[in-house]
Amino acid sequence: MRSAQEIWEAALGELQLQVNKPNYRTWFQGTKGIAYEDGRFTVAVPNTFVAEYLDRNQRSLIEKTLIGLTHNPGITVLFQTGGACPGRAAEQEEAAPDEDLQRLNPQYTFEKFVVGPSNRLAHAAALGVAQNPGKCYNPLFIFGGAGLGKTHLLQAIGHAASNRHLKVLYLSGERFTNDFVDALRQHRMDEFRARYRSGDILMIDDIQFIGGKEQTAESFFHTFNEMHDTHRQIVLSSDRPPKSIPMLEDRLRSRFEWGLTVSIKPPDLPTRLAILKAKSEEAGAGLSTDVLELIANEVRENIRELEGSLNRIIAYARLLRAQVTPEIASQALADIGRSQPGDNVEPLLLAVADCFGLTPEDLCGQKRDKQVAMARQVAMYLLKQNGGLSLAEIGRKLGGRNPSTVSHACEKISKDIESSPVLKHKLLSIQKDLELK
Ligand code: ADP
Ligand code: MG
Repeated sequence: MRSAQEIWEAALGELQLQVNKPNYRTWFQGTKGIAYEDGRFTVAVPNTFVAEYLDRNQRSLIEKTLIGLTHNPGITVLFQTGGACPGRAAEQEEAAPDEDLQRLNPQYTFEKFVVGPSNRLAHAAALGVAQNPGKCYNPLFIFGGAGLGKTHLLQAIGHAASNRHLKVLYLSGERFTNDFVDALRQHRMDEFRARYRSGDILMIDDIQFIGGKEQTAESFFHTFNEMHDTHRQIVLSSDRPPKSIPMLEDRLRSRFEWGLTVSIKPPDLPTRLAILKAKSEEAGAGLSTDVLELIANEVRENIRELEGSLNRIIAYARLLRAQVTPEIASQALADIGRSQPGDNVEPLLLAVADCFGLTPEDLCGQKRDKQVAMARQVAMYLLKQNGGLSLAEIGRKLGGRNPSTVSHACEKISKDIESSPVLKHKLLSIQKDLELK
């Protein structure tokens, strides 16, 4: 078994061939492979600026490279800042020795949770459960879109309860499923059962994951009943209400609805501002109200993205050694990430067409000779790589082609690059061309 760092070094070797030198230096140098567990590969990066860039622009390339090296088609990559810094790592090591299974993030507490109309009910219910587990609502089921604070609330319950010396089990639906499958394979079901039924509070984050996984759901059903019968607390989160979780048995669905089901909605403007204010003070950045308003107006649906934009602006200003003015802030948001997916379609088509001695109209038209077909596939591949657009959108941009055609093209080109140095060279020169623009 190779260590995460060994795998990452091999990956860097390959990535070096696939991105140009200045890019490689800017984004990949100083990164480290720090963990590889449960199909998640964690890469430590120097700052959030780099994390965001890699996440948005290089994820698919990195994952593809890691898949090649690990032969694990389900691998996902996570970018973590501060991992390279020993102080931070030590702090995480020490966190909460008596919390079982999955570590709680020390930041996800009730104190740090900003309450507004969009999450007030969920917050109140979570507090109630933390104070009186097993007594008020059982289960508590919290649902809402991505990045709205479900995990934060669950973990806040976990912190509050473990401060009171209750035994808290917190884990994701995915982890529960994996543990179940492992236990089954290793004939350790008794141990599995005992572990999950041993807590005062069992919290499963993203429970929707067990939908369609019959045996796991069945096992969870029994765990649920036992916990419920003995008045121990169950807390669940999901990206949708129980009735909309696909392929979930009715008996489990109805269990989920036994207690209290609450939703979290996207935050309104004052709540977004309050969150930004708190996070900016915490980061010691003390941004002015006009900058905070600018961010709050840009990002409306997702608190994780709200934080991401804030961090990006802070990092950007630091890189430039500039004060954060609204101008700098909008530059930071425009420079990376915030640019609309699809912004670069025209220049990309032009660069591809140029490289093959064609016009963009040829790429989007009906011609099917070999050269045009190849150029079109390259365009599809690069649009996919450069991120942001779905297969269907790429198909539309290229004269109304099917998503399956696009998908096939992407697979074909990524295979062909391996065997054709000429093609690889062409792609690199197109990329370079685009970066100069
Ligand atoms: P979800 O699990 O719903 O996808 P998370 O709980 O992971 O969302 O929240 C995403 C990020 O936003 C986290 O960093 C979290 O701390 C932050 N966050 C979410 N809601 C709030 C809130 N009400 N106050 C402060 N931070 C929040
Ligand atoms: Mg979550």
